[in-house]
Amino acid sequence: MFTPKENGQCPSVKEIISLLKRPSKEDIALIEKAYVFAEHAHKDQKRYSGEPYFIHVTHVGKNLAAVNVDAATVAAGLLHDVIEDAGVKVETLEHEFGKDVAGLVQGVTKMSKLKYHGVERHVESLRKFFIAMSKDIRVLLIKLADRLHNIQTLEHVPEASQRRIALETLEIHARLADRFGISKWKSILEDAAFPYAFPKEYKQVLTIIKNKRVADEKYAEKIHRSLQKELAEHGLKTARVDYRVKNLFSFWKKLARKEMDAGKIYDILAMRIVVKTVEECYRALGIIHAHWRPVPGRIKDYIAAPKPNGYRSLHTTIFRGDGGVVEIQILTEEMFTEAQYGIAAHLFYKETGGSSGAVEKNTAWVKELTRWQKEVARSDEFLEHLHMDFFNNRVFVFTPNGDVIDLPEDSSPIDFAYAIHSDIGDHMAGAWVNEKLVTIETKLRNGDVVEIDTKESAHPKRKWLDYIKTSFARHHIQAYLKKTNPAEIAAQEFLNKKR
Ligand code: MN
Repeated sequence: MFTPKENGQCPSVKEIISLLKRPSKEDIALIEKAYVFAEHAHKDQKRYSGEPYFIHVTHVGKNLAAVNVDAATVAAGLLHDVIEDAGVKVETLEHEFGKDVAGLVQGVTKMSKLKYHGVERHVESLRKFFIAMSKDIRVLLIKLADRLHNIQTLEHVPEASQRRIALETLEIHARLADRFGISKWKSILEDAAFPYAFPKEYKQVLTIIKNKRVADEKYAEKIHRSLQKELAEHGLKTARVDYRVKNLFSFWKKLARKEMDAGKIYDILAMRIVVKTVEECYRALGIIHAHWRPVPGRIKDYIAAPKPNGYRSLHTTIFRGDGGVVEIQILTEEMFTEAQYGIAAHLFYKETGGSSGAVEKNTAWVKELTRWQKEVARSDEFLEHLHMDFFNNRVFVFTPNGDVIDLPEDSSPIDFAYAIHSDIGDHMAGAWVNEKLVTIETKLRNGDVVEIDTKESAHPKRKWLDYIKTSFARHHIQAYLKKTNPAEIAAQEFLNKKR
């Protein structure tokens, strides 16, 4: 018999409704009805984990309620899999729940229906997102809430799919959550996907964090107390100060930018000061800078100039006096809520008195993307333009089977061949990119499908070392050259030094 685990339990309908701000009687009735309907529709289905399928949809409903969307979106979240997985007809949904809810569920279903492989699959999943977004942004929120629960239960998914799902989550879902300013979702998506997408790097980061964290937390405690004291002495008595460990995935991205040298990263912890008004934000910043020396170039005023996703806050980094530094974020309660829930915090409950700037900016961004999505006819162009910020230094390419291989930017087919297997690299005779024969020094681009020709008689050449980016390719090529001609490698080392 199956007994649900603590974390696998179903959120109750009461729990879901309690998360909404001021739901009307109709709202409550709608959500209750959707809850019961979904429970019945999925009653014979199980998840990979062996848990009743219904648990999944209640989590999706809860995720949505937690970011304070409208009742129709929560109801559609509860019902999001009934068409695809339980065979319920759209007409039935329309009859039971009305056009709005039925339309949302249909939108979600359409997005997950098409199956693609390789490049097409990747491009299509991105494209589907934007098409859905252009119709109704709530469909996208449901899809993100769905992925949020799926990625947190990825351990149960067949191993062969785990990495693909994890990479897709980092590439698409986390990025969209970030774009919408839902930082809470972004962190959950990233940290849940990270160990499956980059297992080696994940373990590396865990070790680094473990060692640094103990030391850092001692100082954080100290700074935390002195900060509170300083602020209170200057009349900012209501300021709330806390600190947290930054999310692992963003820590890794930072680490990668510093050549994986943990010694170059000081701020694993971020302090947060929450005050009442914008004016108090600036006063708090002044008080801090009067007592701790700020690190030059690290003071950022996202209140005067918010980030494109609407994020507002003051950032500064101070020297803590022992050689280390601490990053501090100063913001108001309202900015704090916005930072966690982003667009969703505004979309449906504008009367809460929040600034509407964030919504307008987000909406403008969505509109722009949609327009541009329509203009760009060719898939590769679409994909290329989508690579906005943080995957700039990685490229994701595909094997003909659709497996994703990630490589550093400017990698060549040689890097790719060695990433597949050292034997393939050692016997590489030629390369095909997107079904075209290319030269081996070709730089691979995101979404390329790469195929390697091998020949028993083919072997690594010294010239290859000029065209590679990865250390494992270098290692294998040098090992081969050394084995066959020790003079070769000596010459190469000499040349490298001269450069
Ligand atoms: Mn689902």
